Amino acid sequence: MIIVMDKSATQEQIDNVIDKIKDKGLDASVSKGIEKTVIGAIGDERILDPELLESLPGVQQALHIVKPYKIVAREWHNEDTIVNINGHLLGGENIQIISGPCSVETPSQMAAAAKAVKAAGVRLMRGGAFKPRTSPYSFQGIGFEGLDMFKEAASAQDLPIVTELLDVRHLDTFLEKGVDVIQIGTRNMQNFELLKEVGKVHVPVILKRGLSATISEWLMAAEYIASGGNHNIIFCERGIRTFETSYRNVMDVTAVPVLKRETHLPVIIDPSHAGGKAWMVPSLARAAIAAGADGLLVEMHPTPCEAWCDADQAIDPSELKTLMSELTQIASILNRKI
Ligand code: PEP
Ligand code: MN
Repeated sequence: MIIVMDKSATQEQIDNVIDKIKDKGLDASVSKGIEKTVIGAIGDERILDPELLESLPGVQQALHIVKPYKIVAREWHNEDTIVNINGHLLGGENIQIISGPCSVETPSQMAAAAKAVKAAGVRLMRGGAFKPRTSPYSFQGIGFEGLDMFKEAASAQDLPIVTELLDVRHLDTFLEKGVDVIQIGTRNMQNFELLKEVGKVHVPVILKRGLSATISEWLMAAEYIASGGNHNIIFCERGIRTFETSYRNVMDVTAVPVLKRETHLPVIIDPSHAGGKAWMVPSLARAAIAAGADGLLVEMHPTPCEAWCDADQAIDPSELKTLMSELTQIASILNRKI
């Protein structure tokens, strides 16, 4: 960390800062210029709080020089991490599409969805049994019974399941019922207690970006999971809030190269919640893969107009099939496999 002192800082104030740095077990190196004095804190600077140092008399600014995240940073682990989901690899050269309905509804809907997922050549299935809805009067998901329904339909097609965990009290049951990938939704990206708990298990976690979260906040959220020991983390960009109202959210495709530079962990995109309309999904999905995403989370319903949740943005089985063939071609140009 670098601490820049005010031009008028006294020797006593400089010594006070040095003492604070040494109290934390770090070394201090002082550079006295004509204009200003700059103090460098040497050692693991993450334990120093810039706000606390800035509150000291004579301090103008305190700046971290290393990234606040460590385990998830590419700086510390250069190789791309490949997440293994029951033998299906995601990351590196491997792209995985994850598809299925927004929510689990009935056994026949899930059976039809699983068949459509499989027929399109998709290897992983999504579906929510617990739904985080804006209104308490909207359908909230059918709960644990939905997980059984989902597992049965997906297992019949040999598809691992991806589902959202809303409540830390549900985690054990999720594991007992064989959830293969835990999704942490947008609204919970900074639910730190939930992040700590999924950090203690080894099931892969999809961490969606918060509605208005910065890349740095998102990386720190992943660091919460990683610091518990679970390094099987997949970032998922799902559209962010902006001034634009013509679509549900803005798919931040720039997040893909930026995250890939910052972290070794895989990055996928959810074009469905980004656009919010089924007709936008193929275009956004193609852009995501072209930009270097390691996969997609796409909502598909056997009969979209009957969906209990997010009916407007679900593509149908034949659209999924067409999309898969287009994505396979884009991937091959990039020397990647779907
Ligand atoms: C979902 O994937 O069904 C979902 C609720 O997504 P998000 O958290 O991105 O809104
Ligand atoms: Mn949805």
